[in-house]
Amino acid sequence: MPARTGGQYLEGLKSTSRELWLGSERVHDVVAHPSLQAAAHSMARVFDRQFDCAEDCLMADPETAEPINVSHLIPRSREDLWRRHRGLERIAEISVGLMGRTPDYKNVTFAGFAGRWREWAGPGERNARGANNLVAFQKRLRRSDLALTHTIVHPTVDKRRGDVPYPGADVPLHKVGETADSIIVSGARILATAAPFADELAVYPGFPLTAKADGLEPYALSFTVPMDSPGLIFLCRDSYSVHGDAFDHPLSTNFDEQDAFVIFDQVEVPKQNVFIDGDIGVYNTVMGLTWWPNIMQQTTIRALTKLEFAYGLASRMSRAIGDTSDLTMDLMGELLTYVEMTRSGLLLSIEHARDYGDGVFFPDERPLAPLRATLTQWIPRAFEILILIGSHNLIATPSRAMLDDQRLRGLLERYMGGADDLDAESRAAIFRLAWDFCGSALAGRHALYERFYLGSTARNRKTLYWATEGTFSKTPGPVRERGDELVEAMLLLGRASHVGHG
Ligand SMILES: Cc1cc2nc3c(=O)[nH]c(=O)nc-3n(C[C@H](O)[C@H](O)[C@H](O)COP(=O)(O)OP(=O)(O)OC[C@H]3O[C@@H](n4cnc5c(N)ncnc54)[C@H](O)[C@@H]3O)c2cc1C
Repeated sequence: MPARTGGQYLEGLKSTSRELWLGSERVHDVVAHPSLQAAAHSMARVFDRQFDCAEDCLMADPETAEPINVSHLIPRSREDLWRRHRGLERIAEISVGLMGRTPDYKNVTFAGFAGRWREWAGPGERNARGANNLVAFQKRLRRSDLALTHTIVHPTVDKRRGDVPYPGADVPLHKVGETADSIIVSGARILATAAPFADELAVYPGFPLTAKADGLEPYALSFTVPMDSPGLIFLCRDSYSVHGDAFDHPLSTNFDEQDAFVIFDQVEVPKQNVFIDGDIGVYNTVMGLTWWPNIMQQTTIRALTKLEFAYGLASRMSRAIGDTSDLTMDLMGELLTYVEMTRSGLLLSIEHARDYGDGVFFPDERPLAPLRATLTQWIPRAFEILILIGSHNLIATPSRAMLDDQRLRGLLERYMGGADDLDAESRAAIFRLAWDFCGSALAGRHALYERFYLGSTARNRKTLYWATEGTFSKTPGPVRERGDELVEAMLLLGRASHVGHG
């Protein structure tokens, strides 16, 4: 089945039964559950959107010519990246970037992996079988229009032992056995966002394993499994989905995509779905090559959409209460700097896109790396700016029921309107939307997500520093070389003047 409609996606979800726990119960039907159904339908709208905006979102499958989502495109030119950009924008708009794990995220990831399958095959193509499986999986992913999520990070038990497993560790996901057709895995990984709404779960490396330690092969794994695989257990965090009127909580009633801790209890993974099975060298290198510049296009478009929405809210709030104060103008100017720097980085990354091998084009990583390290702070700061501009107005907001009460309505129009005769309902709608975006329980989770989902500010800054200094590759980057050149010239100048005066 090529590109699916929302209805077909929901039918697919209903036909599976994953082991998913939420609060005090095991959920049997995610589409019908009161805390999950709204997000399931929001995800369905993502599928429908590809038909509503077919020109931007759909393309012909390179082999069958059937319509598939453009996020499956393996980019081979700058024009392909622009094309993908438009499709990704249309998807991000549905939730103004609040849903981080819409299927395009993993589609872009796996299109990149399949385009650069050689990176997965490893030196001398010793992991050719894994790379072939990966290419076959990407074909299935795009032709079945699956919703895929991932879990890549090992649970935190004792930070003194580092981020990665040590030989014999029981908690991190590892291989415990093998049959003729499958491998058996046990252990845990933190968080699979959108676990209730995905069809399959991808496992691939978060951080490299320590290459020197013996006995780490069982942890060097990459594969996919259906969400309803026996032994696969998802423990959802508390729900931030609100069941009230959408007017009162426009975002929390729609976009709680959930995050679940994942336990693998003797899960059988068919060998045809295994991409890495014990090859530490491949495990340690695949994520450090082209995954990053590829996925950053999707993730930065989503971030930009969120920042543009934040600016839109700030502007609407300030107009609603006639706020033209210097302080607010300064805060809005600050917000605009984040919007425009993010947009500029994104555009520049496509402008300087290049062939990363085998004719596969990805964006230039240079403008994207500082963005990744800084969006972790800009987006939480955008929330803070909305709170500073909105102040008490964010919560002095009548509910739908109050507005519908005939006796109250007159009083609300008299006492709770805004500048330029803005009526009470319009004013309440703006501030309720803003509070749901920056101050609700859902907003708290979003701030956490943006701070951490591709690593913290600190981790991203260190990665940038290591790449520039050539800490691991022993080859310093151009910024370090240019800096050295400039410093050297001034050192020479200093020495020359010293000689001159002597
Ligand atoms: C809502 C949410 C959803 C997630 N979904 C998924 C998922 O679907 N799949 C998955 O695999 N993982 C998921 N994750 C996990 C995510 O991948 C990890 O949280 C991320 O990799 C960061 O891990 P870490 O805690 O080890 O942070 P690190 O990057 O190691 O950073 C933590 C350390 O950095 C320092 N630090 C933090 N912030 C700053 C700062 N601003 N300045 C200076 N230092 C700082 C602190 O010392 C802190 O201890 C999710 C996380 C969240 C919060």
